[in-house]
Amino acid sequence: MPSLTLKAVEKWFGEVQVIKGVDLEIEEGEFVIFVGPSGCGKSTLLRMIAGLEETSRGQILIGDRDATAEPPSRRGLAMVFQSYALYPHMSVRDNVGFPLKSAGLPPAEIKEKVDEAARVLKLDAYMDRRPKDLSGGQRQRVAIGRSIVRDPTAFLFDEPLSNLDAALRVEMRYEIAKLHQTLAATMIYVTHDQVEAMTLADRIVVLEFGRIAQVGTPRELYERPANLFVAQFIGSPK
Ligand code: ADP
Ligand code: MG
Repeated sequence: MPSLTLKAVEKWFGEVQVIKGVDLEIEEGEFVIFVGPSGCGKSTLLRMIAGLEETSRGQILIGDRDATAEPPSRRGLAMVFQSYALYPHMSVRDNVGFPLKSAGLPPAEIKEKVDEAARVLKLDAYMDRRPKDLSGGQRQRVAIGRSIVRDPTAFLFDEPLSNLDAALRVEMRYEIAKLHQTLAATMIYVTHDQVEAMTLADRIVVLEFGRIAQVGTPRELYERPANLFVAQFIGSPK
């Protein structure tokens, strides 16, 4: 069974249609990247999957469950926000444990899950620090830690590296690849950066004005781009 299925999904903002009939199946554990130029609908599609944006038409299935009308909190997905979404007055430990505390879990269970996340993300040494005393990369890992503790069905990322400088971006790209290996979790990742897409993805979904221009592995897209738009965007020699 696919982890996530989109069936003829559409999004309208008033009279304007920004997602135009998207069909897609994402397998469990797959790393799928939505790529395309600014304004093509990547964030809108991701936000619809997360439930942060209503789906105008079509269906979103999580496993075999119709989640189209479910609120974000019921979907069991983790939207990883950029590192600036951390609480500045809280320690790393409290930032990572915050969703569990809000959910009312007992302290011992929170500690166990937070320690586990810290181990996976190599945050053990920083647990008592405040976000301001961390590097950009460490903050990003704390933001990811906050979503790991809830054991989500899938992780959703919207341009998580766009605010980082070039060197850190390369480092974090590697960190995210490692994280995907370690967790073996489904990841859906939005970027307008072709290099990021080509290096991280199992499959790339190229969006063009709210439609899927092509879906395939990085290699398939590079070697057999479906059209000139894909070829130019991916940088293949068609
Ligand atoms: P991307 O993430 O690929 O840059 P978006 O999903 O943010 O693109 O936007 C897709 C299109 O939808 C754009 O034309 C954008 O202006 C429009 N859009 C996004 N959010 C809204 C909104 N809340 N109301 C009206 N139009 C919107
Ligand atoms: Mg966007």
